[in-house]
Amino acid sequence: MPSSIPPVLAAATRIAREFDYPASEVRRGVKEFINQMHEGLSKEGATLNQIPSYITAVPDGSEKGLYLAVDLGGTNSRVCSIELHGDSTFALTQNKVAIPRELMVCTSSKLFIFIAGQIEAFLEQHHNEHFEAHVLKRRLAGTREEYKDEEVFDLGFTFSFPVNQVGINRGTLIRWTKGFSIPDAVGKDVCELLQTAIDDLDLPVRVSALVNDTVGTLMARSYTAPGKTETLLGAIFGTGTNGAYVEKLSNITKIADLTDTRYAIPTGKMVINTEWGSFDNHLNVLPTTTFDRELDVETVNPGIQMFEKRVSGMFLGEILRRSILSLFCDPTAKLFQSAGGSIAPDSALYKLWGIDTSFLSLVEADVTPDLRVIADSLRKDFNIDGASAIDCQSVKVLVHAIGKRAARLSAVPVGAILLESGKLETEDVVDIGVDGSLVEYYPNFQGYIREALRDIPEIGEAGEKKVQIGIAKDGSGVGAALSALVARKEESS
Ligand code: ADP
Ligand code: MG
Repeated sequence: MPSSIPPVLAAATRIAREFDYPASEVRRGVKEFINQMHEGLSKEGATLNQIPSYITAVPDGSEKGLYLAVDLGGTNSRVCSIELHGDSTFALTQNKVAIPRELMVCTSSKLFIFIAGQIEAFLEQHHNEHFEAHVLKRRLAGTREEYKDEEVFDLGFTFSFPVNQVGINRGTLIRWTKGFSIPDAVGKDVCELLQTAIDDLDLPVRVSALVNDTVGTLMARSYTAPGKTETLLGAIFGTGTNGAYVEKLSNITKIADLTDTRYAIPTGKMVINTEWGSFDNHLNVLPTTTFDRELDVETVNPGIQMFEKRVSGMFLGEILRRSILSLFCDPTAKLFQSAGGSIAPDSALYKLWGIDTSFLSLVEADVTPDLRVIADSLRKDFNIDGASAIDCQSVKVLVHAIGKRAARLSAVPVGAILLESGKLETEDVVDIGVDGSLVEYYPNFQGYIREALRDIPEIGEAGEKKVQIGIAKDGSGVGAALSALVARKEESS
């Protein structure tokens, strides 16, 4: 250590300290998460929504068959078929198209006719052997009862808008988001809307499962994970953050009609979509800096999704931007002195949401002796020409603090779900599937999660060693297909 720390670095270190999230706080967070988990399982309207998915089994890799999936995201619509080989591998074929803008604001029939048309085109192009004979048979038959649908494709529908799920393939649209506005669809069952459009084209396709993307992540990982282990948790750290896990059915006390024969579920478990982005909206336990407070005010939903606002890709860049500006405004620090001591007025550093979270990964990954990669990006992306190595190091100190806090916070739901499952006591390996650019690309994100897991006494080093984390790709395709498979199995059992 040099005897005198440059003032800018000392100032950056002071700001960084505000993002400390010590072991004692991790433990307090886990306790609170467990409380909120229970509350969400017992009643509607809790902070953690704990939405039942009605999916009652997760795959182990031995599943076989050909399934369809449709993914209606905010921008694109994808149709794919997935051939499950039964050995944890699969082959995926897909067509992807941008959703025409005029279909985002129209009537529901138009949008769903469009999707059904895409399914038709996909089947014609990729599965003609199944397609032609069946469509012909259907179109020639006078009534639907005249043909058997033994060779119908089961389809999993990934629908990334808020729905009130009431069955494995039943869910009513609560509201549109992401620029969509199709008022007549609100309150309707989106699976039924899609099925009607499919039937109008006489396609041999049944909408078997409605899937949230975290549930898809869990299913996809459970199929592809090595060995026959069933995955406990699927977690997303991308634009947003959320997780879905396998819960004991007897713990989901808010489903009053568990005794209904439809739910006489032999597996005794169900996948729960936690919607953990809204964990602790009341800020009982979440760490809060001035930067978090100021960011929240600028969002479309202040006071909501408070956990997500400290953890996910949509927000970390903005937290960083605010802390860099705070450092810049500290007169003792003299940040960017060698670059003229000012930030150009048109720099993205002055724009709300001006820093993309990928910048944090770039900064954290720069291990060049003079931090040239950071300096280059500051020049190219933020119009700061001539930042010194110490400036870059100061920025890196801030990035590291923000990224590490996000990862340690991520350990809170992960740790709580691990403990609640009891699996660390009974299993040698507990598998977790993750997806999203943040966990995939931020250097050592998983490592920081693991450090924080070790800080939880009931997990410790021994427990953390049992945790196996793997990236689950294609959750919206493979995961939806697997959900359709599980739905079918259940129906025919
Ligand atoms: P989605 O959430 O739409 O499925 P992603 O998982 O790719 O998509 O997440 C996108 C988010 O991740 C954005 O907020 C973006 O800023 C952030 N991001 C993109 N690339 C990186 C990266 N290399 N490192 C960290 N975050 C990233
Ligand atoms: Mg995603």
